[in-house]
Amino acid sequence: MTSPDPAHEYDLTTLAARSGEEARPNRSAPLVEPIYQSTVYAFADLDDLDRAMSGEEPAAFYYRNGTPNAATLERALALLEGTEAALVAGSGMAAISAALLGVLGAGDHIVTDARVYGVTYALLAEEFPRLGIEVSFVDALNHDEVAAALRPRTRVLHVESLTNPLMTVPDVPALARLAHGHGALLSVDNTFASPAVFRPALHGADLITHSVSKYLSGHSAAFGGVVCGRADLLALARTRLLRLGGTISAFDAWMTMQGLKTLGLRMRAHSGNAQAVADVLVNHPRVKAVYHPGLSDHPQFHLAMDLFPQGFGGMLSADIEDAPSFVKALAGRIPLAPSLADVMTTLSWPWGTSHRALPDAEKRRLGITPNLLRISVGIEDIGDLLSDFEGALDG
Ligand code: PLP
Repeated sequence: MTSPDPAHEYDLTTLAARSGEEARPNRSAPLVEPIYQSTVYAFADLDDLDRAMSGEEPAAFYYRNGTPNAATLERALALLEGTEAALVAGSGMAAISAALLGVLGAGDHIVTDARVYGVTYALLAEEFPRLGIEVSFVDALNHDEVAAALRPRTRVLHVESLTNPLMTVPDVPALARLAHGHGALLSVDNTFASPAVFRPALHGADLITHSVSKYLSGHSAAFGGVVCGRADLLALARTRLLRLGGTISAFDAWMTMQGLKTLGLRMRAHSGNAQAVADVLVNHPRVKAVYHPGLSDHPQFHLAMDLFPQGFGGMLSADIEDAPSFVKALAGRIPLAPSLADVMTTLSWPWGTSHRALPDAEKRRLGITPNLLRISVGIEDIGDLLSDFEGALDG
């Protein structure tokens, strides 16, 4: 360890505190962006710091406000969703909260599909009214019901592009026209689809959200969320997110970037495999119902084929006679894991997980029975996958 200033003999305490961080000329650059694990950034003078803080020349200065890894992920996700900007967050729920609270305040009103993710439902049903935001739950497949719910103070209509667990397909272009006709924004949670198979912004959506731990990262190893949309809407969301403290970690942003690089290939494999699994399940005597938009008896089959020309991703649900024994028979090969979008196939049980809080009668009214299993079809060899499913169904 040498003293940085030959004219001054520094104490070891000082040398240790400052060691290793002096500027080093790089003669090569890393191919993969490094993880920037620094909570704060150093500036050469006050003008530089001022330009960074004012946003005139954006530069990282403090971790909560954004790391270079988060900024890289934001550029990539805005590009993939075809939007002006993106804002990454510590979870999908942080992204949804920031997106909606960016544009809604006390006295405003939001209309939402009742078939949204359970925690989104709870956020809207229990937290937003505490802030003076009024909420109406509707069936987004029924446009008369949506139109009747829109009011002068309605700022947002919120839906999911593919719903959990019964895979309904709202008509995003028609809902965008309805919302815009009433001066409201359309917000679409695109988690189940990913921009590889559906890009809501191209169909009129203003705010697009994801839980990035699903298809965007793809390996159940990174956690975060994102909002994509117009720069002015995202500036409002960013202010809410930074004050509420919903920053994504540099590591999770970096991990998501690594997964994102194979999104296109993964989604092609997920989509093809899910269609093949749906086609086999639908013909098995033990299977009472299969919910997948690529089956010709799906209620939105034609709309789905128009909106999702490249497939529907890996999600489907099936009502299987004696589901507990089916799950047991698959154990060790296809795990029961209450998330989705991993490269390996997983099962989830909506009755006891995502919809657990609903009264049984309400679950049954929605089509969610104790035997309904949600299948997140992975990218395994399709022969192996079908033999696993057929073996468990027959055995
Ligand atoms: N939206 C959908 C459709 C989800 O499935 C989930 C989580 O499973 C979320 C939002 C919430 O995301 P997170 O768990 O990252 O907060």
